[in-house]
Amino acid sequence: FLRGKRALVTGGTSGIGLAICQRLQALGAHVVANSFEDAEEASPRLATTNDKGLPIAFAQADMADHAAISAMVDQVEAQHGAIDILVNNVGVQHVAPITDFPDQVWQRILDINLSAAFFLSKRLLPGMADNKWGRIINIASAHGLVASPYKSAYVVAKHGLLGFTKVTALEHAQAGITCNAICPGYVWTPLVEAQLEDQCKVHGLERQEVIENIMLQPQPTKRFVEVEEVAEMAAYLCGDLARSITGTALSIDGGWTAK
Ligand code: NAD
Repeated sequence: FLRGKRALVTGGTSGIGLAICQRLQALGAHVVANSFEDAEEASPRLATTNDKGLPIAFAQADMADHAAISAMVDQVEAQHGAIDILVNNVGVQHVAPITDFPDQVWQRILDINLSAAFFLSKRLLPGMADNKWGRIINIASAHGLVASPYKSAYVVAKHGLLGFTKVTALEHAQAGITCNAICPGYVWTPLVEAQLEDQCKVHGLERQEVIENIMLQPQPTKRFVEVEEVAEMAAYLCGDLARSITGTALSIDGGWTAK
């Protein structure tokens, strides 16, 4: 049901972003995956073809760099046309107490996890408004709704992203454009794998103890969410039957924020 739609997914070469690219592509969209990696590094993972036999396209840019984001939009629009579906998925994490949190890391997390969504939405909303159809999906987190210690920049950025989702939705409520956030709990991806070591350090625990006592502790289902579950929600939000869902935060967190 997404035939003819063009989608851009930031951080689309790994984890949740890649699963979203693959799902939208399988539903007929023409998908462009962004990452700061080299094309050669990313392309083996982007082989999924759509009904026209096209693989997922790739657009290289560092989402921490405003000029690079702008240049990427120019290139994507010139190459593929106006974008109908924007998935602001890129996100990075750093685990440290506030008193030890490096200033540059704070700024970089806000740039990548929050400001990139603003810059991209600002650039792509006018094209969506011209077409009277658009979807923006912001991948937030359970940490957009509640906090955990040692994740100050991430929690702040994700709370901010929920606020930005609401404003975007309200400003475009009559333009055929919806904007929603998805708030996953712990999803087993390279991002989570990468923070295991830091979590071991700050909590003074072994790997398995971190998985059971820290990561899955707040998640009542006691299982990691899978990337396909998040991708399916994103696909649903792109459908015409989701046209009245806007400005909301949809949790996929195994009951985490129900407590
Ligand atoms: P991941 O680390 O598996 O993938 C991140 C992607 O972003 C990769 O494609 C990477 O190349 C790209 N990337 C990283 N920095 C970049 C930059 N500066 N510029 C461009 N691309 C960059 O991550 P993931 O776990 O799939 O997370 C995706 C999103 O989901 C993030 O916003 C994250 O905060 C959110 N999220 C993840 C979880 C989880 O448990 N994994 C839970 C809640 C929310």
